Amino acid sequence: MKKRPLWEELGLPPPAKKPAAKAATANPEREEAATAQLRTNCTRTIKTALCSETAHQTQDTDAAGVEATGGEDEGDTPDVTGLAEDIEAALFHHHGSKPGPEYKAAARLLVASLKRNADLRGQVVSGAVDPAALVAMDSRQLATSQQQQEFAHLKDKALQRVTVVGSGASGTLTTEYACKKCGGNNCNYIESGRRDIGKSETWGSKEGATTNRVVTCLGCGHRWEVGLFE
Ligand SMILES: [Zn+2]
Repeated sequence: MKKRPLWEELGLPPPAKKPAAKAATANPEREEAATAQLRTNCTRTIKTALCSETAHQTQDTDAAGVEATGGEDEGDTPDVTGLAEDIEAALFHHHGSKPGPEYKAAARLLVASLKRNADLRGQVVSGAVDPAALVAMDSRQLATSQQQQEFAHLKDKALQRVTVVGSGASGTLTTEYACKKCGGNNCNYIESGRRDIGKSETWGSKEGATTNRVVTCLGCGHRWEVGLFE
């Protein structure tokens, strides 16, 4: 036997349900449409990024001859529509098939990387890197080879010196930094070398950083780099 709710007995309209929950379930069609729209936009942006090669090459005639990427005649642009769709689908899937903030952030990073990194773009367009592999890459893997080399170089140097630091030979104790992992501020640091200001497009450091400092937390061993400005 069913009890009439109070609002009905009193002749009142039914109370509003929780608005958030209602919005999420009550309008699946609108949500689906919004998701579809977002994904379409994303696909289009990826496609534009994939195409940036042609525009870049024709404009950039004084590329200092560092990379001789020949063989591509004008008007011979490969159709990347299908590829852009595949990449978007892989990206969407990779982020739980939800159009959430991770998906959006990953899409932005991917597009920026494809525009900036001609090598990566070439590998993607040629199929050497397939969509699933591409969307699984982190920001380091998406970086240009120049950035990667600089980073690897930096890392090598840092590791060598940290080994020395570990044996107590050098390194400077400091409480100037706070460790992100354990919150401690007993650290030591080493300078990981001066950088060439001319090509200082590097990890996490702003343009113009002239030195990198590698800081090691003495509490937990967490290690990070800080760009210094002189
Ligand atoms: Zn720590």
